[in-house]
Amino acid sequence: MIKLFKNAKVYAPNNLGKNDVLVVGDKIAKIHPNIESEPFFYDENVVEIVEADGLILIPGLIDCHVHLLGGGGEGGYKTRTPELMLSDLILGGTTTVVGCLGTDGVTRSMESLVAKAYGLREEGVSAYVYSGSYRLPLTTITGSIQKDIMMVEPIIGIGEIAISDHRSASPTFEELAKAASDARVGGILSGKSGLVNIHLGDGKDMMRYLFEMRTRTELPYTQFLPTHANRNQVLFEEAIRYAKEGGFIDFTTSTVPQFVKEGEIPAASAFCRCLEEGVNATQITFSSDGQGSLPNFDKHGTLIGLDIGKTTSLYETLKTLVVEMNRPIDEALMPVTVNPATLLKLSRKGKIETGFDADLVLIDQSNMEIHSVYALGQTMMRNGVLIKKGTFEK
Ligand SMILES: [Zn+2]
Repeated sequence: MIKLFKNAKVYAPNNLGKNDVLVVGDKIAKIHPNIESEPFFYDENVVEIVEADGLILIPGLIDCHVHLLGGGGEGGYKTRTPELMLSDLILGGTTTVVGCLGTDGVTRSMESLVAKAYGLREEGVSAYVYSGSYRLPLTTITGSIQKDIMMVEPIIGIGEIAISDHRSASPTFEELAKAASDARVGGILSGKSGLVNIHLGDGKDMMRYLFEMRTRTELPYTQFLPTHANRNQVLFEEAIRYAKEGGFIDFTTSTVPQFVKEGEIPAASAFCRCLEEGVNATQITFSSDGQGSLPNFDKHGTLIGLDIGKTTSLYETLKTLVVEMNRPIDEALMPVTVNPATLLKLSRKGKIETGFDADLVLIDQSNMEIHSVYALGQTMMRNGVLIKKGTFEK
């Protein structure tokens, strides 16, 4: 129930230097350079002391776009990608996840998605979902976007709604604006974010609807999080323009070499380029698109290859930023901790701070490998070994 991390280099995500961190139950109780061990602390049945010398302590990662049930199926039924397992998250230091349906809202249902989120919670991590698939009108549980957000606790927003994609429902601007307005009001009335997660395709309209939201509606930038903004060079330039005007953008970390060869910008490079362009680091999030299909279409729209998104790519991107691109850890952490927590209004997530959830990851300072993972105070991985596995994982 009580854990005391001794002498960790704490990035909260801002650099707090060497500190002790006391965890009581599922919460962070105290952060101080030297937390005195009271006599009862010496009873190892009461408190677990974690010697964290040489280790970096960061908040557990937040992945704001994962196909918890699998996704896709763009190559027929046999290409429906498999469900996420608990270890997919833990191996990449992810302790909070937001699930979505994706292309297929027929054989994958909202009821199953919410059940999967509950299942992941029972296994120890924090899980939420967006209502809906690629298509409008939105696939919901209650028949109403507002009711879904207000009455179904794990539902915190809607999406991923596809625009500028041959797999979208080709929504009109008015249809998208109406859905976003419903999500906003549902969010306001329930104290949730009501975020609209937008899937950006390769289509020629790119982010036109999102720019028009500014001129034709009263909806604020914080209502929308367009993802896959790094999928091709032209779209990426438009995303930079959108961010410079104040918008928030999400870069997908799962990729395959073929995509990069064809013009996708790896998320770490996309982040650096945005900062060079003067975009504020608070406006950028990363998500893995985990368990989603990574279909490769030729110029005629025929499927020529299929891969699966990996949730561990989120941490790999963080590592690339720090190790290969020499970005400071505090800055590299923002797109996977505090930024998604703020946008999603997850008020106890994304920071190492007193009263926050004890979602913590220890990293080996020498090689930036994940050492241990804690979710809501529970040990999920210790010294590179998975302690807690999914119900059906061996
Ligand atoms: Zn997508």
